[in-house]
Formats: sequence, structure tokens, C-alpha cells
Amino acid sequence: MSAAFLPSEYSTGLVLLSVVVAVFASFVALDLARRVHDAPPHLARIWLAGGSIAMGTGIWSMHFLGMLAFRLPIALGYDIVLTLLSWMIVVAVSGLALAIAGRPRLTMPWLLGGALAMGAGICAMHYLGMFAMRMSPPIVWHAGWVAASAAIATTASLAALLLFHGLRRANGLRRLNLQGLAAIVMGGAIAGMHYSGMAAANFPLDSVCGAALEIDTYWLAGTIGGAALLLLSTTLFASIVDARIQSRTAKLARSLKAANRELSRIAFRDPLTGLANRLVLEDRIDHAATRSERTGDRLALFFIDLDGFKPINDSFGHQAGDTVLRVIGGRIGACCRETDTVARIGGDEFAILVEDAGGRETLGKLAERIVQSISQPIELHEHPTSLSCSIGIAVFPENSPAERLVAHADAAMYHAKRDGKATYRFFTPEMDAGAAETIKLQQDLRAGLNRGEFELYYQLKRDARSGACCGAEALLRWRHPGRGMVEPDNFLPVAERFGLMVPLGNWVLDEAIRQAGQWLRDGMPVPVAINLSPLQLRQPDLQARLAAALARNKVPPEMITLEITESAAMEDADATLALVERLNQQGLRISIDDFGTGYSSLSYLRRFTADQIKIDRAFIADMVGNPDALALVAGVIQLAHSLDLRVVAEGVETEAQQARLIELGCDEMQGFLFSCPAPAAGMAARIGAADTFTAPPLPWHASNHTATP
Ligand code: C2E
Ligand code: CA
Ligand code: CA
Repeated sequence: MSAAFLPSEYSTGLVLLSVVVAVFASFVALDLARRVHDAPPHLARIWLAGGSIAMGTGIWSMHFLGMLAFRLPIALGYDIVLTLLSWMIVVAVSGLALAIAGRPRLTMPWLLGGALAMGAGICAMHYLGMFAMRMSPPIVWHAGWVAASAAIATTASLAALLLFHGLRRANGLRRLNLQGLAAIVMGGAIAGMHYSGMAAANFPLDSVCGAALEIDTYWLAGTIGGAALLLLSTTLFASIVDARIQSRTAKLARSLKAANRELSRIAFRDPLTGLANRLVLEDRIDHAATRSERTGDRLALFFIDLDGFKPINDSFGHQAGDTVLRVIGGRIGACCRETDTVARIGGDEFAILVEDAGGRETLGKLAERIVQSISQPIELHEHPTSLSCSIGIAVFPENSPAERLVAHADAAMYHAKRDGKATYRFFTPEMDAGAAETIKLQQDLRAGLNRGEFELYYQLKRDARSGACCGAEALLRWRHPGRGMVEPDNFLPVAERFGLMVPLGNWVLDEAIRQAGQWLRDGMPVPVAINLSPLQLRQPDLQARLAAALARNKVPPEMITLEITESAAMEDADATLALVERLNQQGLRISIDDFGTGYSSLSYLRRFTADQIKIDRAFIADMVGNPDALALVAGVIQLAHSLDLRVVAEGVETEAQQARLIELGCDEMQGFLFSCPAPAAGMAARIGAADTFTAPPLPWHASNHTATP
């Protein structure tokens, strides 16, 4: 260094302290990045804000300690305004880093743009800090060292972003080790940037520090070092406590899943015969069909209906009927292989799914064996009784698509019966009466949409504690001139299959929001819930359409809740997640419908910006009397509350269910016990003069929940 400059030296103690602070700040920052990523959205914002301050202050104080470690043979000090400004810059840069690291995906533009912005911010902080000394004559800069410090700052930022991101997946001790290592690398890089930036500065011999009197150096070193370490420790402590809570939530989710499995085991068996039930059969067909697309195996479905069961039931009584069904179930099972699925799917209807089915001849032989076996007499009250069965067989992929397998086998069974019973028939296309019916229904639906045959009924939701109305769910009805009032389960699947779901759903959106606006003008602010089909979620114009309808009817978005079924939410998870977040930002409420039927991972739900979940009515129906269902409902409520979600129970039909739900802390209830779906016109009367409206509180106000563990 040239003799024209002041000689400088470093205080080793303070340099060491500055490096320690840098490494510690990096360690805490890495922890925070994970918090921002894992926490539910509203908590993530708090972590982001608090985290930026802690991390920024950490980096800044490292820088400042480094400055204080630097000694010149003249008095030094720092301009307080510029010093504060440099702190603000680095807090902002830290916020940027945490926000980028918390993104679900780190793409190249984000990575590079983020690293450049962070590098520039750190340089700005450092050099502004140097200017805060207000040296005259000005500092002489060594261009090479300045460039080196900028390069180090940018590279360190890039490394930091990659580390932030990479560490998210690691767990346990491995994570701790990696995080420690990463913190040393990052801390080293931050310190490296600083000391190379210092090396760039040369102070002319006649230098005077213009800020020399403003702040005392030694007092500063102690205060800043101490405060930074304290702040960082507190933040780390909070982060660790939060991680504990999160992991308990995860544990709860796991036990809930186990309860779910147990419940489905019970729910999927026919209690009388111990055979599989219809649900299992359909599930097996689904899986087998998917497999067979790979392996080329054929599947056969046998639909077995007993001939003459009703007279036995009538003359010998139900108990005798049950015995017969058990015996028959056993006989059918005995004719089958281990790999076949035998199910009871109706009163006296059985089905067999044969995977890896042979040719028609083999299948015919099996059918004959079953007919034979069932025709054997059964002892009932010492009377040998006999009955027979008719069998229909459909084969996939030969002449039945998987989803029509049961219907086709059923149609074939009907022909076997018509042809004299105690026999079997293979399905042929002309037996398919259902298809013609479906096509007719589809044409009627199209015409109905043009003729305005659709209506919305509304079912009230009530606050579990106060009983006050807290909204109404819009439910679609079809007033068909010939068929009468048709319920959605009977036409929505067809609408969905024939591309009518979107126009129909759009009509529902417009009509429900129009009605909400009408009620609002009539002085009844009824929050309205609208069901969305998965197909609607994939419409690019959904958000614009909603916004237009809200504006047209002057309805505030908080008045509208969109109900999305759990399974729809799981489909195409990332896209749905993004869409739901946008809708939520628009102010609309989001509800996860039919919860419990989709077996979704609750950790996924945690990332959803939903406001409430609706427990499926199947669980509510089973709740009183079935401890497993009760445990599930209790678990769902507890978990939902720990995620700040409101819980709505649907299908509440009895006072016993109501009482149980109130005990468990459920927030809202809906069901025939309180009100049936009915036309909009009678709303005022149904709400009743005594009732007040309570719009559900925003999720972050949901402090009245039962305490979470
Ligand atoms: P969901 O969303 O689960 O709607 C609640 C259903 O439960 C309604 O049937 C309602 O009448 C029925 N329900 C209400 N209280 C009780 C009760 O106490 N006990 C029992 N057993 N049932 C109760 P609904 O109106 O037949 O609708 C059936 C399904 O059709 C709805 O199920 C929903 O998934 C769908 N849906 C209805 N309207 C629309 C619509 O506008 N758009 C879309 N995409 N789907 C709709
Ligand atoms: Ca619903
Ligand atoms: Ca539902």
C-alpha cells in the first residue's frame, strides 16, 4: 500500500466477533427460510417480516462490527442517518431473500435476479456504511477490490438462495449438520465481502472523519454486538418452538390418517356377509383397469342376482333371509380364486371381479359352477329350501369400458333372468338400455339450459354456538317438465361427461351472486356458498367471471364462499393451489367440501389458503354410535382449528349429532335438522325475525377456537 495513505490495523477480537455474528445470523436465516416455506400463509407473512428484521440486523451488525474493528490513527465515527439507512437496506434485502427462498419453486430467473438484487443490496449497505464516516478528503477506492467485493456479495447471495432452497427437504440431524455447514459458508462469504470491501478503501494522510463526534466507537461495538446476538437468539428460539408445534400438528395428521384407514376398513366391508361392498368393488375395478392397460389382461365382472329370494325372506323372516345370504356369500367365495374380489352390492345382489380373466369358455364354466353351487338346497328351520341365481358377465376391455362394467353386467343379468333364470349371459351392446337413457338425459339437459329450467335452492348454515344464521349454500335443482324436480346427483355426472358442466356452473355462479346482491339490497346480508365443479376450476376465465358478477351485483367478495371438493382440490394440486390463492386474494372465501372422502394429506391442506372445511355428511351420519367415526370427526375439528380453519358439519339430522358436534367445538352446522334446501323466495321467513346474521370471522380472527396443543 502506498505511503500516501494512513496506516490501518484491525482489532482481532472484534474481527472474530464479527465473523461469529455473521455465521450465527446465517444459521438463523436458514432456519427462518424454512419457517416461511412451511407455515400457513398468514403465519408465513409474520415470519417473513420478523425474519427480515432479525436476519437483516444480524448481517448489518456483522458489517458494523467489522467497521469498528478497523482502526485508523485518527478519531472515527458514523453519521447516524446514513447508518440507519444502511440498516434499512439490508433488512429489505433479507426480506427479499426469505421471500424468494420461501417460494415453492426456484426457477432460474428468480435465482439469478434474486442473487443480483441481494448482491446489489449488500454492496449498497456496505458502501453506504463507509460513506457514513463522512471522510474528507474522500476515500480513495481500489477498483479491483471493489469489484471483488461486489462479486463475492453476489456469489454469496446465489449460494445462500441455493442453500436456503436445498435445505428444505433435509431432516433431523442431517439437516442440523448441513445447516451448520451452510451457515459457516454463508457467514464466511458475508465476512469475505466485508473485508474485501474494506481492503478497497484507502484513506489519504490528511483524512478527517466528519462524523467523528457523533457516535462513540467502543460503546457502539458493545451495544450492537450484544443486541444482535440477543435478537438472533430470540428469533432462533421462536423458530425452534414453532417447529415443535408444527411437528406436533404433523403427528396429529398421521394419527388422523390411521383413524381414517381404520374407518375405511370398517366402512368397506359388508357387515352381514363379511364380503367387500360396492365401494371396494368400484375401487378394485378402477385399479384393475389401470393395471390391465399396462399388462393387457382382461377383466370380467359377474353380476349375480338371486332368483326367488324375496319369498324366502317373506315367509321365513329376516333372520332366515340373513342366514341364506351368508350361506350364498360363502358358496360364491368357494367357487372363486384368492385373487378374485367377491362383493355384496345390494340386498340379494353379489358381484365378482375376475382379474386376469381367461376366455369366454373359462368364464362360462365359472358361471355354471356358481349356478350349480347356489342351486344346492339350504336347510332352513329343518326345511330344505332351494333357490337359484341369474348371472350377467361383462368383459373389459372387450366390450365394456371400466366405468360401465357393473352396469353392463347388470344389463346382461337382466337378460339371463328374462331368458328363464338359473343361467348366465354375456353382455352384448344391444342390451345397453342405459346408454340410450343417458343420451336422452343429455339432450334434455341441453334443452333445459336453453329453456331456463334450472333453479337454485338454498340451505341455511347455522353458527353452532349461537344458532344464528351464517349463510346459505346454493344447491342446483332442475325442474323438468316430464321428470319433475331432479336432484343434482342424477344429472351432474351426465352434464360433466357431455361438456355441459361449465355452462351450467357459470349459470349457477351468475345466479347465486345475483341473488346475494338482491338479498343485500333487501337488507338481508346472507353470505352465499357456491359449489364449484373440478371442471370449472380449470376454466381460465373463472376469476374474471367471478369478479364481473360481483361488480355487476355490487356484492362484496367476502359474501361469497366457493366450495371445492377435497378430491377436486387434490387434482392438479399446484394449479389449484395457485388459483385458490388468487381467488382468496380477491377476497372470496374458500371452503374444502366433502372433507374426509379424499384421503388427502393434511400437510398439503396446510398450504391451501382455505377458510373452512366441511366434514362430509357420511362421517356425521356415523358419528353417534361408531367410535371410529367420532374419533375422526374430533380429530378433524382439532386439526382444522390448529390450522385456523373453521369447521362446518354437513348433513346434521339429529339432536344427538348436534350435541356431540357442539361438544367437539364444531363452528357451523348444516342439515335437515335446521333447514332443508328451499327456493330463494322463502328465505326471509326461514331466517326468522329473531335471527341475526353473523358473517364468519376472518380466519386470523378465529381466536375463539378451542386451544390447540
Ligand atoms: P354437497 O355439496 O355435499 O351438498 C349438500 C347436499 O347434502 C345437498 O344435496 C343437500 O340437500 C344434502 N343435505 C343437506 N342436509 C342434509 C342432511 O341433513 N342429511 C342428508 N342426508 N343430506 C343433506 P343435493 O342438493 O342433492 O346436492 C348434491 C350434490 O350435488 C352436492 O353435494 C354438490 O356436490 C352437488 N351440487 C349441488 N349443486 C351444485 C352446483 O350448483 N354446482 C356443482 N358443481 N355441484 C352442485
Ligand atoms: Ca357443498
Ligand atoms: Ca358435501
